[in-house]
Amino acid sequence: MTTNPMLEHALANFDQTAQLLRGEFSPDLLLKMREPKERSELRLSPEFSDGKSHTIRAFIVHHNQALGPSKGGIRMTPTVTLDEITALAMEMTWKCTLIGVPFGGGKSGIVADPEQLAAHDKETLIRSFTRSAQRHIHPLVYVPAPDMGTNERDMGHIKDAISYSLGQATTQGCYVTGKPVLLGGIPGRREATGRGVAITAAAAMKTLGRDLRGAAVILQGFGNVGAVSAQALAELGAHIVGISDIHGAIYNPAGLNLPALMAHVRKQRTVAGFAGGRRVSGAKLLTMPCDMLVPAATGNQITKDNAGRIQAKVIAEGANGPTTPEADRILEKRGVFVIPDILCNAGGVFVSYLEYTQETQQEQMTETEVRTRLEQRMQDRFARVRQTAQERKLPMRQAAMLLAVRNVATAIEARGSLP
Ligand code: NAD
Repeated sequence: MTTNPMLEHALANFDQTAQLLRGEFSPDLLLKMREPKERSELRLSPEFSDGKSHTIRAFIVHHNQALGPSKGGIRMTPTVTLDEITALAMEMTWKCTLIGVPFGGGKSGIVADPEQLAAHDKETLIRSFTRSAQRHIHPLVYVPAPDMGTNERDMGHIKDAISYSLGQATTQGCYVTGKPVLLGGIPGRREATGRGVAITAAAAMKTLGRDLRGAAVILQGFGNVGAVSAQALAELGAHIVGISDIHGAIYNPAGLNLPALMAHVRKQRTVAGFAGGRRVSGAKLLTMPCDMLVPAATGNQITKDNAGRIQAKVIAEGANGPTTPEADRILEKRGVFVIPDILCNAGGVFVSYLEYTQETQQEQMTETEVRTRLEQRMQDRFARVRQTAQERKLPMRQAAMLLAVRNVATAIEARGSLP
């Protein structure tokens, strides 16, 4: 029995899919996929610039490796738990196979508030995590990446810490993705998740016979995914009318001036206080008038309490797990088109795979190649999920889950049950 809502929801989504696959796979095999392969809890003791040694907890979960090494970002928040990381690792198993990359599902968490850490202390913490987690981090075991609270600078420190411990100038093979381009990263990785969100959002509007040009979009979260999604959607002609972050929210039905907002955020580190929009509460913003809503912050934001009041016709899930199963049912009844997280935000892990292959083969890829391949892959997978949804008369989330869980179950069968 679990009490973490994100894990409960991930399991509820899986159980619904397992029901659909009952005739194709044995109950034992489906049950095996429900449980993570490994859950580890680490105690880190970094010494910060205050001269004190701090005790900080961290987690690593490998959910399933039937299709390859675990892949999944490192979340750094003050509230992250092992169950939340387990839910996110499970989602990564489905996301990797849905987008067609040979990775399994994994995730890590570090219990700390990145906004309260000086740059030097954050580096110390990331290096401490890398040392403690080193038996996990390997191109054939677990390949981390950025997630909430971590960024490409942190990934650079991870690569450096591993190279240092190996006594080498660099690593052979890819231990971590989302690195700075100069350190073996790939151009376009930082933007990949947000661009993928915009590609699937445009595909959804086209499917519904609606125009993205001139459509009003609200985003929750203005970090990597939120800010890039906003920019990419604006480039496609959408009007960004509302944006929130953890400190506040702003709304302007005539459209927010994104370059001016970006300049404000660079100075103030928040959208709050931006003069080009009206201040509203973060909760209220989700239900304000718009055509499309992009949750790009954290889990459990669209719930049974607000799903009935959401005015968007399309929800593009940039965040992981933003919608609860109860909210899903309400949105489905109301005819809201939801692009599920495991499809909508899979651009990041797809381009991570390009970074992985580039580094393994000591190749170099241009940003144009990366963008072209991202566009093709997102379009292709959107079309496959949409087709399954229509054929099986399922909501998009269940159609995506059906394709993903079936792939993993087939891989487990193909590998066999021993050892
Ligand atoms: P980030 O740390 O760069 O940004 C997070 C943003 O969300 C910040 O603006 C923060 O202020 C805001 N936020 C946090 N809690 C909020 C709340 N309750 N209300 C409003 N805003 C809130 O993180 P990110 O990398 O942009 O990730 C955002 C989401 O996207 C997460 O759910 C993450 O798992 C998911 N995701 C990220 C990637 C990636 O490549 N970075 C890939 C796939 C999915």
